[in-house]
Amino acid sequence: MATIAFVGLGNMGGPMLANLVKAGHALHAFDLSQDALARAETAGATRAATAAEAAAAAEVVITMLPAGQHVRQVYMDESGGLIGAAPKGALLIDCSTIDVDSARAVAAAAADAGQRMVDAPVSGGVGAAEAGTLTFMVGGADDAVEAARPILEAMGKAVVHTGGPGTGQAAKICNNMMLGIQMLSVCEAFMLAKRLGLDAQKLFDVSSRASGQCWSLTTYCPVPGPVPTSPANRDYKAGFTAAMMLKDLKLAQQAAAVSGAATPLGGLAESLYAVFCNHEGGGTLDFSGIIQMIEGDA
Ligand code: NAD
Repeated sequence: MATIAFVGLGNMGGPMLANLVKAGHALHAFDLSQDALARAETAGATRAATAAEAAAAAEVVITMLPAGQHVRQVYMDESGGLIGAAPKGALLIDCSTIDVDSARAVAAAAADAGQRMVDAPVSGGVGAAEAGTLTFMVGGADDAVEAARPILEAMGKAVVHTGGPGTGQAAKICNNMMLGIQMLSVCEAFMLAKRLGLDAQKLFDVSSRASGQCWSLTTYCPVPGPVPTSPANRDYKAGFTAAMMLKDLKLAQQAAAVSGAATPLGGLAESLYAVFCNHEGGGTLDFSGIIQMIEGDA
């Protein structure tokens, strides 16, 4: 069993840490939030006063932070950050969803300091973090990814090695751009069906067995009824918030601009989610709740 430092104990990091404790690892926890730290302590972790203190004796360091700026700061601040604080040869695993450039910059700084690092963002929300059924997409050198695999398997059901540093973030950004566009296509189709006098359940019965079939329809159907577990049946309580979807669509557009890729549908999806998130409370709703705006705008 490993000694693990875990930094960033929010909605996702908290339950991920709890699963590592259950698997028998020794956890040293740090977060800026005292409440988050108290929950980690209750789950069985040791509370650290700083990120550097948590990492000081760690074989593995895991981070689950909001965005690229937090990851850069926590790993590479002026006092050396986690890269300087962790023992030589420690394995650094960043599970946050961030921009590819930040992931590659931090991985390069870690390599310069003789540390192994992988970017390992996740698919699956808080429910999957609690159940230990996350999917990890992992970018990094073969030996680092294989060393990370048993640790990640204590928190997830699938670990996919995507290639070199930054490719885990690339996979996450591309997947979620697909998801955002796909959800909008399903919302528009249900709105059009309503205008045409076609019952939503009937459209579901056809499209779930026809070429329109996709995850946004069969698992996360944006209208109440056809899929009883979808957020549409609980007033669009998230799930995966529209604000999170907007964040990921922005990352996709930023990556497209830097790499010279044309992603017009991704750009349109970003604009529509930005409008929805600017509505009172829109950003806190599940991302499938955008159907309310699409129906209202038609
Ligand atoms: P969150 O805001 O609930 O948690 C982030 C935590 O990081 C907070 O507890 C905050 O106090 C802490 N933090 C921020 N800066 C810090 C610092 N400098 N030092 C120590 N702690 C710091 O966010 P979340 O929902 O847990 O998401 C975390 C990451 O996971 C994000 O990148 C998000 O995009 C990604 N993600 C989230 C979901 C989801 O459904 N929530 C799903 C997949 C991926």
